[in-house]
Amino acid sequence: MNVIETKDITYSYPDGTLALKDVEFNAAKGKIIALLGPNGAGKSTLFLHFNGILKPNKGTVRVNGEPLKYDKAGLMKVRQKVGIVFQNPDDQLFAPTVMEDVAFGPMNIGLPDEEVEERVKESLERVGMEGLENKAPHHLSGGQKKRVAIAGILAMRPEIMVLDEPTSGLDPKGASQIMHLLYNLNQEGMTIVISTHDVDLVPLYAYNVYIISEGKIIKEGSPLEVFEDVETIRGANLRLPRIAHLMEILGKEDKLPFDKPYPLTIGEARRRILKEFNDRVR
Ligand code: ADP
Repeated sequence: MNVIETKDITYSYPDGTLALKDVEFNAAKGKIIALLGPNGAGKSTLFLHFNGILKPNKGTVRVNGEPLKYDKAGLMKVRQKVGIVFQNPDDQLFAPTVMEDVAFGPMNIGLPDEEVEERVKESLERVGMEGLENKAPHHLSGGQKKRVAIAGILAMRPEIMVLDEPTSGLDPKGASQIMHLLYNLNQEGMTIVISTHDVDLVPLYAYNVYIISEGKIIKEGSPLEVFEDVETIRGANLRLPRIAHLMEILGKEDKLPFDKPYPLTIGEARRRILKEFNDRVR
């Protein structure tokens, strides 16, 4: 079952920029789905359609099978199901303290104080930010801000979490912590949709990948299927994961027995290499 479905959505910004053209995007329940595309491809624009921040000029957005309603009640309902974490946490965090920021969503939907408190505590623990409740968000590091922004969304207990470039601007450790958190949330049943241009990350986590280029979805499938189409990937100004690129060079230039589909992760590459060379190495 698809928890998010867009059918032929087209969107132009008021200045006339056509940002999405007939986009069909589906997020299957309980999976991690990646939207991969270069800068300016339309990733953020598409995500802003998932909870009605933007309304398509044409086409429909469905959440749990129901077409989005853009009146106040409809938007309130969809925003409890679909939480969006923006690329830049400064667009999301605005309260004077971490605690007030995370409490804002639950308070806004009228939950009783004890419930708000419980959710704030639980969400901050979940992202490893307990103890920093009284800190001002603008005094936090990039990675900490990102985690507080995620806590604010978790406090709403959404079924679906949509994250725009969740690892951008973070150091490797910070990026890996965020991805682990998302992996764990997914293991507990949450559907996760992420946008990224980090092709090395996608095969580690994503069940399904969409490639977007100039406002159009140009490819969709499992990471292996998508990265097997090397021409499309490069044509969209993306690249193969480094490890796949190495295997491609070893196969094509050095005539070693590696062919498509190339392994996409270190683990897969290691298995493939050991399989080919085990006898010779030992
Ligand atoms: P991505 O998230 O993939 O980097 P965006 O969705 O931000 O891409 O942008 C898609 C296109 O829409 C780009 O051409 C961008 O310049 C344009 N765009 C984004 N936001 C606005 C806006 N507020 N007004 C006009 N054009 C915009």
